[in-house]
Amino acid sequence: MVNPCYLPEGMGTSVIPPVQIIENADTLKKSISLLSEEEAWFGSGNGMPELPLRITSHYLKLVREDSSGALRRMAVPRVEERTVLVYETPDPLHEEPYEVLPRCIHRYPDRILVLVTDVCALYCRYCFRRHFTGENRGILGNEDIRAVHDYLESHPEVREVILSGGDPLMLPDEKLMFIIHKLGRAGKVASMRLSSRVPVVLPSRITSDLAEILSCGPMVWQVIHINHPAEISPEFLSAVNLLASRGIPMLSQTVLLRGVNDDPEILADLFCKLIAAGVKPYYLFQGDLAPGTSHLRVALSRGIEIFRTLSSRISGLALPNFAVDLPEGGGKVRLGADTIAELKDGEYHIRSVDGKLFRYPAEPEQSLQSEG
Ligand SMILES: *Cc1c(COP(=O)(O)O)cnc(C)c1O
Ligand code: SF4
Repeated sequence: MVNPCYLPEGMGTSVIPPVQIIENADTLKKSISLLSEEEAWFGSGNGMPELPLRITSHYLKLVREDSSGALRRMAVPRVEERTVLVYETPDPLHEEPYEVLPRCIHRYPDRILVLVTDVCALYCRYCFRRHFTGENRGILGNEDIRAVHDYLESHPEVREVILSGGDPLMLPDEKLMFIIHKLGRAGKVASMRLSSRVPVVLPSRITSDLAEILSCGPMVWQVIHINHPAEISPEFLSAVNLLASRGIPMLSQTVLLRGVNDDPEILADLFCKLIAAGVKPYYLFQGDLAPGTSHLRVALSRGIEIFRTLSSRISGLALPNFAVDLPEGGGKVRLGADTIAELKDGEYHIRSVDGKLFRYPAEPEQSLQSEG
C-alpha cells in the first residue's frame, strides 16, 4: 500500500474497486418487483434533469430483507418525485450566494464546506442537493483544491473544513489523501469533517488503507449519514469498528423521512444502536424543501412532536440535535425548547440564529392548496 502519511504532490490514479451498482430498471427488476408508483417513474420523464437511479447491491440486499418497506422508499424512485411544489427550490439550503470558489461554500464564519465530488454510491430519493448530485461533473480538480488551500491561507478565521458532495468516500484513496493533507492544515484549519453515506450503502469501501488515511494528518471526524435501524448491517458494524480501531471519532446525521423513520420508537432504536457502535448521534434534520421530495417530508409539527418524545425517552448521549435549514437563506437552526417556533396561518415562523424571522410550511402538501 501507499504510505498514507506521505503526501504525494501528484495524483494517484487508483480507483475504487469495482462494485455492483444498479442503475436501470431491468437490473432492478431482477431483484425486486416494482410497485406501480415506482414503475411509473421510469420512462415518464419530461426531459427535465432529475436524480438518476443508483443503488448498491449491498443496499438492495437490505431492501429485500426489510419487510417494512422503509429502505425501499429511500432508494427506489417513485412517480411522486415529479410533483414539484411552490415552496420547493432547487437550492433549498441557499448555498449559491456563499460559493466563494467553485464548490466551496463559506456560510458560517469558522468552517467551510467543500463539495469534492457529485457522485454517490446510492442516490437518496430525498437528496436536498439534487441540483448538483449525480450530474457527473466529476471530482474536484487539483487546481480547485489548490485554490481552496490558498483561500484558507488568507482566511485564518476558518478552523474546520467539511468535505461533502456527493459522497467524499467515493474518491480514490490517493485523491482523498491529497485533499486531507492539502486542506487539513492550511491556514488555521485544525480539524476536518467528512460527511458520508458510504459506511451504510457501500461498507466494503471502508478498507484498512482508508482508515489509515483518515487517521493520519489533521483530526478527521467521520459523519455517517444513516436513517434507519435496518441500515445497521453486520458489514456496517465491521466498517465502523475498523474506523473506531484507528481512533477516528464518529458522528451521525439522520434525515426525518415520512414512511421511513417518522416514529420515535424507530429513531430511539437507531440512536441507541449507534451509541452502542461508538457513533454519537449529531443531527436529526427536518427534510429540506428540495424539488420532488414532499412525499418523503414529515410535517414540521410532527417532527417537533417526535423530537419532544425522543428527548424524554433517550439519554442525552443518544439524542441528536433536531435542526431545520430555513428556506430563503435563513441557515441552519436547532429546534430546541428555547426556539421560538410560532404557528401562524399554516406556517411556522422561526428565528434564525441572527434573529430574523423565516417561514416554513406546517404541512408537506400545503402548497398544493395554495396553487389552487
Ligand atoms: C451544515 C453546514 C455546516 C456545518 O454546520 P454545523 O452546525 O457545524 O454542523 C457548515 N457549512 C454549511 C454550508 C452547512 O450547511
Ligand atoms: S448521499 Fe447525500 S448527496 Fe448523495 S444522494 Fe444521498 S443525500 Fe444526496
